[in-house]
Amino acid sequence: MEKWKTQVLPPDDENIRLAGELLTQGEVVGFPTETVYGLAANAYNPDAVAKIFAAKGRPQDNPLIVHIASMDMLPPLVDNPPALAFKLAEKFWPGPMTMILPRSERIGDEVSAGLATVGIRFPSSQSAQKMIRACGLPLAAPSGNLSGHPSPTTAAHMLHDMDGRIPLIIDGGECQVGLESTVIQVKEDRVRLLRPGGITVEMLEEICPVEIDDGVLHAVDANAKVASPGMKYRHYAPIAEVTIVEGSLAAFRKYMESVAGDGVYAMVFDGEEDGMPVSTLAFGQMGQPETQAHRLFDLLRQCDDLGAKKVFVRSPDQHGIGLAVYNRLLRAAAFRIVKLDGLSE
Ligand code: AMP
Ligand code: MG
Repeated sequence: MEKWKTQVLPPDDENIRLAGELLTQGEVVGFPTETVYGLAANAYNPDAVAKIFAAKGRPQDNPLIVHIASMDMLPPLVDNPPALAFKLAEKFWPGPMTMILPRSERIGDEVSAGLATVGIRFPSSQSAQKMIRACGLPLAAPSGNLSGHPSPTTAAHMLHDMDGRIPLIIDGGECQVGLESTVIQVKEDRVRLLRPGGITVEMLEEICPVEIDDGVLHAVDANAKVASPGMKYRHYAPIAEVTIVEGSLAAFRKYMESVAGDGVYAMVFDGEEDGMPVSTLAFGQMGQPETQAHRLFDLLRQCDDLGAKKVFVRSPDQHGIGLAVYNRLLRAAAFRIVKLDGLSE
């Protein structure tokens, strides 16, 4: 892998032009979207796409999402998409929804990891759209973290992981959503949810029936052939051991007394910090999963900065984007859950 002095630059016209030139030349560029920061390359250039896998240390069997900035860019990438795809695009694009569609012959195996399909997204972030237009190319881009780390939601997170490995990161500030896109397989009359995100099950159900893949809430066997290969990897995990704790605030507080010790942290909802017997990290407002989504990955990175050894997390509500928050936490916790139901004051 080439060694770079990584530049971090704001998304003004000159820097967007520089990003466009690098992408046209077959280099990779870090960029902001409304979900998380991505690491982009020309989706039509196999050598450029290979640089993404090298920079991230990403397993080769994990496919990439291709990003577009207009509906005109879609037809060359896909082969006979179902009519439902256009209905969903009309409703939710630009936005945090990735549709898995049959791939055209222009999409290589290195992008789709040999699958017959390709994931496509039209991001709403203006910086992302400008960068795609600056090079006029569909951009293959996974999240911009080292493989296994939490996705970056700021340019500083991305620099932490990618310093020296890539030439440029466009800094668009904090990502609005804070979790990766909703990934759906689009069938004739329904969709299958592979990864929950900012476009929620409730929103999709306004358009068509939604099946929820087993991998959303359950561990996937490392050797299994799965619909979304990304779901089988240990993900979003800080160095500390993370545990999700279900139950009332009172039961949680009592439980924390029993596990208190050096390097033990509690991730609690805003306003629950008082009276906790261990150090706390505030995890957004209870019942407002958007605030939790926005903060989660930054908090997981903070756990590492603090040298946390064990982190106990209040279990979030699973409605709306809360399902996505819970899905990422399950993976950060390697599916470790403590149920305090029945424990009373
Ligand atoms: P990332 O952008 O790093 O979050 O990774 C992209 C995610 O989209 C991974 O979880 C992939 O498994 C999933 N994905 C991308 N393309 C496909 C596809 N063709 N079929 C199923 N899942 C896909
Ligand atoms: Mg990722």
